[in-house]
Amino acid sequence: ERKGELGDLDPSVKVVVRIRPINAQEKEVDRTVRKVSSDSLTVGDRKFTFDSVLDSNSNQEDVFQLIGVPLVKNALAGYNTSILSYGQTGSGKTYTMWGPPSAMVEDPSPRSHQGIVPRIFQMLFSEIQREQENHDGKLINYQCRCSFLEIYNEQIGDLLDPTQRNLEIKDDPKNGLYVENLTEEYVSSYEDVTQILIKGLSSKKVGATTVNSKSSRSHIVFTFVIESWCKGASSKCFSSSKTSRISLIDLAGLDRNKLEDVGRQSVQEGKNVKKSLSHLGYLVNTLAKETQPEKPEDAPYGGSCLTRILRESLGGNAKLTVICNISADNRNSSEILSTLRFGQRIK
Ligand code: ADP
Ligand code: MG
Repeated sequence: ERKGELGDLDPSVKVVVRIRPINAQEKEVDRTVRKVSSDSLTVGDRKFTFDSVLDSNSNQEDVFQLIGVPLVKNALAGYNTSILSYGQTGSGKTYTMWGPPSAMVEDPSPRSHQGIVPRIFQMLFSEIQREQENHDGKLINYQCRCSFLEIYNEQIGDLLDPTQRNLEIKDDPKNGLYVENLTEEYVSSYEDVTQILIKGLSSKKVGATTVNSKSSRSHIVFTFVIESWCKGASSKCFSSSKTSRISLIDLAGLDRNKLEDVGRQSVQEGKNVKKSLSHLGYLVNTLAKETQPEKPEDAPYGGSCLTRILRESLGGNAKLTVICNISADNRNSSEILSTLRFGQRIK
C-alpha cells in the first residue's frame, strides 16, 4: 500500500486513466481498450487496475468532480497539490487540462468543454470568497500569484513573456528552487486567472497537435501559489499562516519515434522528451513508495529541468494526481500500453 497522509483517506499519489472518445478517423471495431469497472480496464486480454478509470462517456465535469474538487480542498488546507497530464500526442492531455480557451469564459456546465484547470480556479475563488464572508471573528487574508512556463528541449521559456526563452533554475537556501526572472502575476479573481491562462496558452499555441510539431514536445507548467494568514483579535490566529502551491502540468507527448523524425534537431528533442518523462516516472515512483527518502534532497529530482522544477511541488506535504490519457484504437496499442505501464509503476 502507498503512503497516505496521517489519518486521512486521500492518498498522496493517485492515478486516474481517462479514455478519450473515438474520433472521425477511428472505428469502433478497432477499439482495443474497455473499461470493466470503476477502477479497471482491459487492453485485449490484459487487465490493469488504477485508482479510477474514466471511459469515453465521461465529461469534463466528471473529471473535475473526481480530481479537481479534492485538489481545491487540499490546497486550501495547506497541502501542495499537483496534476500531471500524461499520454501520447492526440490522447486528450490538453483537452483534459485546459479545454479550448474559448470555453474558459463559459459557465462550467457539465456539457461545457471547459477543462479541469479553469474549473479548479472557479471553485477556489468561490471558496475563498465564502471563507471571507463567513469569518467568525477572525479574518483570513489570501494572496495568490501564478506563473506559466514551457520546457522545450530542456530550455525553460516564460509563457507570460515570450521574449524570455532560456531561463535558469536557481537554488535559494531559504526559499528553495526557483526559475530566475520568470514572470509572476498577482491574481484575485477567476477572471484574472483565465486571462493569464488564455495569454499563456496562446504563446504556446495549443490546439490539436501533430506528433512532430514543437507543441507536442514541450511540457507546460502552470504554478499557482496561495498564501493565507489570519488577521484578527483571536489568539487562535497567530500560527495560522499557510503557503500552498498548485502545479498543473500538461506533459509533452509520449510518442514513438516516427519515420519522419529525420532531422537531427527533432531526434534530439525526442530524446529529451523521453529522458525527462523517464526521470519523472522514476521520481514519482520514489514519492509513491511507502518509505520515502529520509531527506527530501535524496529524492531523484536532479535528472532534468522538469523534475527539478517540480521539487518544490512534489516534496514533503504533497498530493499528486497523474492522469493517464489514452485513446482506445488498437493502432495505438504500444503507446496505450506504455502509458498504462507508467501509471501502473506508480501504483
Ligand atoms: P494531446 O494534448 O494529448 O495531444 P488533445 O487534447 O489536443 O491531445 O486532443 C486531441 C483531439 O481530441 C482534440 O481535437 C481534442 O479536442 C479531442 N479530444 C480529446 N479528448 C476528448 C474528449 N474527452 N472529448 C472530446 N474530444 C476530445
Ligand atoms: Mg496537447
